[in-house]
Amino acid sequence: MRYLITGGAGFIGSHLSDKLIEKGDEVIILDNLSTGKYENVAHLEKNRDFKLVIGSILDERLVDKLVDGVDAIFHLAAAVGVDLIVKYPLESMTTNIRGSEIVIETAYRYHKKILITSTSEIYGKNINGPLKEDDDRILGSPLKSRWSYSTAKAIDEILAYIYCKEKGLPTIIVRLFNTVGPRQTGAYGMVIPRFVTQALTNKDITVYGDGNQSRCFLHVADVVGALTKLINAPDAIGEVFNIGSQEEITIKALAEKVITMTASPSKVIYVPYDQAYERGFEDMARRMPDTSKIDKLIGFKPTINLEGIIRSVVEYYKNKND
Ligand code: UDP
Repeated sequence: MRYLITGGAGFIGSHLSDKLIEKGDEVIILDNLSTGKYENVAHLEKNRDFKLVIGSILDERLVDKLVDGVDAIFHLAAAVGVDLIVKYPLESMTTNIRGSEIVIETAYRYHKKILITSTSEIYGKNINGPLKEDDDRILGSPLKSRWSYSTAKAIDEILAYIYCKEKGLPTIIVRLFNTVGPRQTGAYGMVIPRFVTQALTNKDITVYGDGNQSRCFLHVADVVGALTKLINAPDAIGEVFNIGSQEEITIKALAEKVITMTASPSKVIYVPYDQAYERGFEDMARRMPDTSKIDKLIGFKPTINLEGIIRSVVEYYKNKND
């Protein structure tokens, strides 16, 4: 199969590229290298089944040309990371709404199967757990960046869903919960790479809020394993799937765990949300997926636990700084 991966030089996209190339597929990446990095995919450049195109999903002619030449599309290109969304709301909105619209419309023009990556932010402040795909969304004001991001991704989902129902375009939607692993950067807010780099450089570990909020983290290898199975599962078409782990930890406990695992002298400090992000910022107290739907379809079970996840990030940053 020949795949187009938008955002393929990013953290998840680069692991997906590795996996597909390993399977013997062909991969074309479209990435503007805004948050993605050349170094994430540089090792693939020597492979003749791999091609990196540097450009934007907002470039309709380029998207048209690339979609025409592939069998299926993984649409990962997006502005992500709470910090990035809060700092650059307009650019984030344009990429996430207009960009996705262009990619989905083009997929329709050539009738190519497309898998859209959405997010657990869809559920907003719904802290019931485990969250099922058809559970309610509970959102704050759309004038707050976090909720506008959630809304933008919901529009992507709606477009993909409607194109499938109304026009017969084969679309699959996945909602990724906190995904972690090598190559993830802490620059846009993601907590584990931030804590690990803070611990490795003996800096204070910055826990936002009181640290009692909890998350479930999934290793990127488990995510890309699920994505490659889903795109080939006929019954996945027209459906939405949560992908995540149910191993829950508070952010305070996560900070302690990172300190212990790195034997770091770093201390935990507590930073108010207003200071960490923006005035009036709202966090989610808890977020856990119900993954029974994807498990039933493709036999999804996380294979790497939280300790393994943290270890892989520690190794990555240790080797990077050597
Ligand atoms: N967080 C933190 N310190 C940091 C970065 C993040 O305490 O330096 C918290 C953040 O407020 C949230 C959790 O860690 O409660 C997970 O944040 P992340 O941005 O990784 O993911 P998301 O908020 O999208 O779940």
